[in-house]
Amino acid sequence: MIKTLVRAGLVLLALSISAPAEPMKVTLLGTGVPTPRPTSFSASTLVEAGNEKLLFDLGRGSTMQLYKLKIPLGAVSANFITHLHSDHLVGLPDMWLTGWLATPWASRKGPMKLYGPKGTVAMTENLTKAFADDIRIRIDDEHLDPVAVTFAAKDIEAGVIYDNNGVKVTAIEVNHGEKIKPSFGYVVEYGGHKIVLSGDTKYDERIATAADGADLLIHEVAVIEPEVLFKNPVYKDIQAHHTSPEEAGRIFASAKPKLAVYSHIVFGTVKPVPDIPEETLILRTRTAYKGPLLVGRDMMSFRIGDSVEAYGPDGAKLDP
Ligand SMILES: [Zn+2]
Ligand SMILES: [Zn+2]
Repeated sequence: MIKTLVRAGLVLLALSISAPAEPMKVTLLGTGVPTPRPTSFSASTLVEAGNEKLLFDLGRGSTMQLYKLKIPLGAVSANFITHLHSDHLVGLPDMWLTGWLATPWASRKGPMKLYGPKGTVAMTENLTKAFADDIRIRIDDEHLDPVAVTFAAKDIEAGVIYDNNGVKVTAIEVNHGEKIKPSFGYVVEYGGHKIVLSGDTKYDERIATAADGADLLIHEVAVIEPEVLFKNPVYKDIQAHHTSPEEAGRIFASAKPKLAVYSHIVFGTVKPVPDIPEETLILRTRTAYKGPLLVGRDMMSFRIGDSVEAYGPDGAKLDP
């Protein structure tokens, strides 16, 4: 009897070890840049893996996108910042303070976990000072939990920075320009799968190395018409901090991800256009890369299991 029980236990153990993990889910909450365009919020990407919900960058509108997904703000397990540019951060005070409220769509339990480059901890201290009155009033008046409005913040360096519930996050240094150091990209691994986020960067082969054989590579891009670069020094400065479509194509061709996706899309055209010049972006990328490619849109999502499936903002399955 005992032998049988032991054997049954071993079989169960073997099954639980070999059982494939639930697919990871990735949602682009914000694919835009500082431009206040209602159709492209600024940088923010949600990664759901097992019991973990991880947020990479907290750009404008990240709370609104989580609300649309019916994910309580307080359900985010940890937050990761690529660098301290405002288009990656303006949603932070909103997520922090709104997520603290006691309503069902907020209700964060415990401190807000935040990882980012040097300066992240100082920023949380300064934010706490800036919002001292709101914090004092709500603790006194609404009896909110004082612990849940604190930060568990960490200034990180490159390497493994998070390992929880089978989800591992590794920060990789990327090149966003001499004066923005350090600037990070992130690698998220779970159940034998790997996704890579470039963060803001110029052409940097370290991303191709980190994304070698990745299921999903989310890369930034700046698609600026040569004439605009020539005429406008502002755009020249912008391009100098980002990756061109041809350069991104070379990164994709080298990494060979199952799917390459653009997010954080900067564009500049001679004639003003209301939306991303998608055709030009794809054509210029195709000079170097012929594999699966999508131009990211807010609320586009991906399921990463045995295969990588992509869904448009309306939920319709896409064919990259
Ligand atoms: Zn930046
Ligand atoms: Zn940016």
